[in-house]
Amino acid sequence: MNPIKEVKIIGAGASGLFAAYWIKKYRPEISVTVYEQSAIPGGLIGTIETPHGLAERAANGLIFTKQMEDLARQIGVGLLAPKATAKKRYFFWNSTPRRWPLDICETFYAFMKFVFNFSKRKPRTDETVWQWGLRLFGEKMTERVIGTALLGIYSGDPKVMSASLIFGRFFEPKVKNEKYRGTVSPSLGMGELIASLVIWLKKHGVDFKFGEPVTLPEWSRERPLIVCTSAYQASGLMGLGSSAGSEIAELSNLLKQVEVLPIVTATAYFEPGPDLSGFGCLFSRNQGVRALGVLFNSDIWDNRSQLRSETWIFGGAFDREITKAGDAEIVEMLLKDRTTLNKSPSAQPKHVEITRRDRAIPHYDLNLERILRNLPLSNLEKHGLFINGNYLGQIGLSRILERSEQLVQRMING
Ligand SMILES: Cc1cc2nc3c(=O)[nH]c(=O)nc-3n(C[C@H](O)[C@H](O)[C@H](O)COP(=O)(O)OP(=O)(O)OC[C@H]3O[C@@H](n4cnc5c(N)ncnc54)[C@H](O)[C@@H]3O)c2cc1C
Repeated sequence: MNPIKEVKIIGAGASGLFAAYWIKKYRPEISVTVYEQSAIPGGLIGTIETPHGLAERAANGLIFTKQMEDLARQIGVGLLAPKATAKKRYFFWNSTPRRWPLDICETFYAFMKFVFNFSKRKPRTDETVWQWGLRLFGEKMTERVIGTALLGIYSGDPKVMSASLIFGRFFEPKVKNEKYRGTVSPSLGMGELIASLVIWLKKHGVDFKFGEPVTLPEWSRERPLIVCTSAYQASGLMGLGSSAGSEIAELSNLLKQVEVLPIVTATAYFEPGPDLSGFGCLFSRNQGVRALGVLFNSDIWDNRSQLRSETWIFGGAFDREITKAGDAEIVEMLLKDRTTLNKSPSAQPKHVEITRRDRAIPHYDLNLERILRNLPLSNLEKHGLFINGNYLGQIGLSRILERSEQLVQRMING
């Protein structure tokens, strides 16, 4: 096989930037061009400077892995650990925020059920998170802890989410021994990670073409090519001009079926008051709250705001019309939920920064599990076409960084 001289990447979100980073780490002599349709890098990620402090448009924190630590050091970004005030995390259950939403008998029952079923804990093919939880822990733990956490983190419906996509990786031998090292964030927010990474990549010769959406047939002749967009964008790209019945057309057709859920985030700034303190709170369904969760930014990270900063997250599988709500309606929802959480009328915010995304997070459901089983990836990779993105197994940035490294290793090793 000819040595690779040049690689084209479509998309300058985290997946595209991480792929470019690993190419330059492993093979600095390879010429890399990144095409990004927007005028700025980052994709979903972005940090806005408001008059009262920073507001994140998507990711707020990173899992602190070895690869992320090395990347941050290389590009000169300091990673902050959460403040001591962030230790407490809450579940909202029965009108009250609780550190643990099960009583002692319910917890004992869930524990004993898990011990009894320990040998069968690995998720099965086509098993939902709900079925897996019921099988291992029983109903209360499944509804109040597992279902609530996954709705908050993945915005998905636990009754259709795939247990093997969410928990399967914990049964892989390499991951089993991995120690969880917590969550971190760049001191100036996620935007700092993106901006510093782009500077580092440019310094290492990566050419960026911003404001240049790639369309066929231009890109189809380029090899190797890494498509680092969301699933629906990749499907659109590949659907254009691919011959019917080809593997690219099959890939496009499968990616078109990935469901992507809407999310609205609203970061609000209040005068500090006697509000709940900690990392944040996740809301179970049917508890009289519309939000999926809230992060107490000013309790988590230093220097985010002089005021109390909270990010409220709405939308997901049970609230698909959320992006149609106007700003005033979203602020009203936030204040209503905030009043319910704190059990006292909410103060008025000084400022609210709202981000709407009709298609934000892939639904990690059984449909996605089936799609991922059927993707004809290895054949396409043999012909120099690679895909990378948050729909391929994990949505978190540190996991995307890991996957990007594996992809680049496969690409350069042929
Ligand atoms: C509200 C929210 C909160 C989150 N919180 C966290 C968190 O706390 N921690 C965490 O680790 N992760 C979090 N995530 C997940 C994480 O932010 C995403 O999984 C990740 O940013 C996805 O990056 P990506 O590059 O795969 O996709 P994207 O960010 O969607 O990037 C794709 C890029 O491709 C470009 N593109 C598309 N089509 C074309 C084309 N034809 N030509 C050129 N360019 C094109 C797009 O413009 C875009 O820039 C969160 C996500 C959301 C929505």
